[in-house]
Amino acid sequence: MNNMSYRVKKMYPWLYSIQDPQNVFCYLAVGKEKALLFDTVYGIGSLPLAVKEITDKPVYVVLGHGHLDHANGACQFEEAWLHEADFELCRLHTSEKYRMTALKQAEESGIALPHDFNPDIYLKAGTGNLKKLDIGRIFDLGGLHIEVIGMGGHTAGSIGILAQEHKVLLTSDSATPQVWMFKIESLSVKEYIAMLERVVQLDFDTFITGHTDEVMPKSDFYKYINVARHISVEKSEPFKYHPELKGLLYREDGVEIVFSEAKLI
Ligand SMILES: [Zn+2]
Repeated sequence: MNNMSYRVKKMYPWLYSIQDPQNVFCYLAVGKEKALLFDTVYGIGSLPLAVKEITDKPVYVVLGHGHLDHANGACQFEEAWLHEADFELCRLHTSEKYRMTALKQAEESGIALPHDFNPDIYLKAGTGNLKKLDIGRIFDLGGLHIEVIGMGGHTAGSIGILAQEHKVLLTSDSATPQVWMFKIESLSVKEYIAMLERVVQLDFDTFITGHTDEVMPKSDFYKYINVARHISVEKSEPFKYHPELKGLLYREDGVEIVFSEAKLI
């Protein structure tokens, strides 16, 4: 049995990864005066406590997108910033029905719930207090500036955050080794490629995603662009999750894109 506590790792003097038992990652950037939590994982277990063990500075909470595995912990904080294009999606993904699937998954994986965990409160917690997040906004944490980068594709309201002084981009699910572009809420593959081509021009050296805290080189963005450009229905295989959406997985150069034919238009 896994225990339910979060696993915290100091990646850099200014950045911590926080891993939940279902292997989703959120990140705490810490400046001289303030801190910023990027994503909130499934939120089964107290994230504010995990954050407090790292810093007692005031914390901004910013969501990379509205999916349940990144947004369900947001309700544990006073407020959370999310791009408006994902508000409706976030309401769905933090609904009782979706939260129930998160609990079921945890149960099926043999994960023990924390002793003080109250499923009734969790199931009915909703989105929390969402604030509209603007692209280009800069959070000044004191000697550390975090810029909000528009990265719509996986979802319309997906964003990344760029730690300007360190040239590190955090992408949540918007640019990952296996990107999911087959969801109903995903934009077209064409729009996704245009986003990657724009973002790769920005001043960063490495990036970190939402389902591993491995630090990846910027050059991987070109692999993501190529795998998306070269998509071949014939060379793809059916994707096993959410079969009703008829996802197809295409692989090239060690990276993968899951798409559906509807997203190729
Ligand atoms: Zn997602």
